[in-house]
Amino acid sequence: MSDRHDLILAGGGLANGLIAFRLTERRPDLRFLVIEGGETLGGNHTWSFHDGDLSPSEHAWMEPFVAHRWPGYEVRFPRRSRPVATGYASVSSERFRALLTERLGDRLMLGAPIASLDPGRVTLQDGRSFGARAVIDGRGHRGSRHLKLGFQKFLGQEWELAEPHGLAHPIVMDATVPQRDGYRFVYVLPFSPTRLLIEDTYYADDAALDTPTLRTSIADYAGAQGWRLQALVREEHGILPIALDGRIEDLVAEAAGVPTVGLARALFHPTTGYSLPDAVHVADLVAALPDLSSASLARLLAAHARNLWQDRAYFRLLNRLLFLAGVPEERYRILEHFYRLPDPLVARFYAARLDMGDKIRIFAGKPPVSIRSAIRVLAARRTMKDDA
Ligand SMILES: Cc1cc2nc3c(=O)[nH]c(=O)nc-3n(C[C@H](O)[C@H](O)[C@H](O)COP(=O)(O)OP(=O)(O)OC[C@H]3O[C@@H](n4cnc5c(N)ncnc54)[C@H](O)[C@@H]3O)c2cc1C
Repeated sequence: MSDRHDLILAGGGLANGLIAFRLTERRPDLRFLVIEGGETLGGNHTWSFHDGDLSPSEHAWMEPFVAHRWPGYEVRFPRRSRPVATGYASVSSERFRALLTERLGDRLMLGAPIASLDPGRVTLQDGRSFGARAVIDGRGHRGSRHLKLGFQKFLGQEWELAEPHGLAHPIVMDATVPQRDGYRFVYVLPFSPTRLLIEDTYYADDAALDTPTLRTSIADYAGAQGWRLQALVREEHGILPIALDGRIEDLVAEAAGVPTVGLARALFHPTTGYSLPDAVHVADLVAALPDLSSASLARLLAAHARNLWQDRAYFRLLNRLLFLAGVPEERYRILEHFYRLPDPLVARFYAARLDMGDKIRIFAGKPPVSIRSAIRVLAARRTMKDDA
């Protein structure tokens, strides 16, 4: 393999994997390389998204990645349970890995941890070094002092049941469970009549995950639903960033001119920590860029991050209300109140495409947190000074 590539994608996770896939379709002549530190691509995740998150053309090219699809889902709260008629879909790491491994062939290098990189070179821990016209950093979440975060943390277990569970749709939030460690809910995806992914989830102030307790909570939840767990198929855990505040200019500057994508660039929905829709949009942006030089990619990706950051200020304000305005065990009331809204508005919320009318409606009605603490959070307005 020659030392010189048109492009190196550093990290073979969601964001860079989708860019690589799109490049094989849109730029078949490009000489690029994906360098992944792990022995396989794509980690151990179930990546879900709502139908409204993607455009029709994005849905079309993502279709081969989709392992499960449902026409709607439900949510359950102490005082409100309802169906939501928006489609929901999941991409499995398994499908992602199989598709990309086959598609990329010798453009994929596995088991190759990167020690350092700059806009034109990647150096591995074993000392090998690869030059390129451009390098895109997609090495995932690494935290930054320029971001103030809460966390959505969870343990998920995929179980084969002894009998059919009878669930037709996902339960995206079941918050009728005892509240502790912040806003707690259980998330359930039915993969087959006898197969479920069950996740015990917390919107918490800290990132600590008490795995043994969460395993017991999942077993208790299944028991309470009358599901007999027979065989554990797999387990996954996540500690996703929830953006409360930040300084986008400093975050962009941290990359020192290296074009950066995915969680490394805070490209995620501020309230859910989900990044699949952003990764899909960015894959299309990159694949359509006529000039794939480092400078042109850096400009495009920095401008994209700034635009999204400014556009999503409202979500960070909501997050500050969620995390800072009430007692943690009462956080569920904010989501319960939100889910009084009609399906299309809920879909626009998850797609991070709210219009002004939506933003006003979300705050209307009887407030779910005390007016006094809401005013305190709103009056403080910001917890970090920003240059954006
Ligand atoms: C368990 C779990 C479930 C999730 N579920 C959803 C969901 O349902 N929907 C959704 O939209 N989002 C979900 N997310 C959030 C988010 O979409 C994922 O974290 C997503 O994978 C982030 O994409 P990324 O490309 O930025 O990073 P990653 O996918 O984490 O990719 C980073 C890659 O870089 C590699 N890497 C890191 N350092 C190096 C190095 N030094 N050298 C070489 N390689 C390196 C890693 O091994 C990894 O493969 C989930 C996250 C987790 C953890």
